[in-house]
Amino acid sequence: MEYYSRQISKLIQELSSLPGIGTKSAQRLAFHILNMPEDQVEALSAAIVDAKRNVRYCKECFTLTDEELCPICRDASRNHRLIMVVENTRDLAAYEKTAKYEGVYHVLHGAISPMLGIGPNDIRLKELMQRLQQEVEEVIIATNSSLEGETTAMYISKLIKPTGIKVTRIASGVPVGGDLEYIDEVTLLRALEGRTEL
Ligand code: ZN
Repeated sequence: MEYYSRQISKLIQELSSLPGIGTKSAQRLAFHILNMPEDQVEALSAAIVDAKRNVRYCKECFTLTDEELCPICRDASRNHRLIMVVENTRDLAAYEKTAKYEGVYHVLHGAISPMLGIGPNDIRLKELMQRLQQEVEEVIIATNSSLEGETTAMYISKLIKPTGIKVTRIASGVPVGGDLEYIDEVTLLRALEGRTEL
């Protein structure tokens, strides 16, 4: 990349460190940014820095938010006795897009994977169990249908069973190995409606 001046090379290098951005895309983005009006570039960089500085975990459901409680946990019209367990904030967003789910969420930030050395203590499982001290009617496990997602679902259901709280698993309308965030809303709703008790 020596044919670019140092600062252009630096911009391309930073952009190509992002997931899914190869050198070609990074170059395209870099030149796009250089062609943008300066105030737009400043707004973009400020949005990145502000989000990084202010975004934290919701103290109830552990999704990413810029306030102490996320908008879903703050919403009194949602059913707080129905908790859907998802692997990450993107999966939560996928279910929110259906606009049909009225409960709240719990974001694990990962899944159990013995192969990758990720154990129950590495995800927000303890926090989920603490939430179950309050009045909860049902926990819907909506982890991905990958090996890790299934392992996590089984582990969670075993933990919750003794509490007497109903535990369900979303139906397998979700393709095996499929990431929730890439699945269309109709399939997601069908999976939710067809959930079965564990
Ligand atoms: Zn929340």
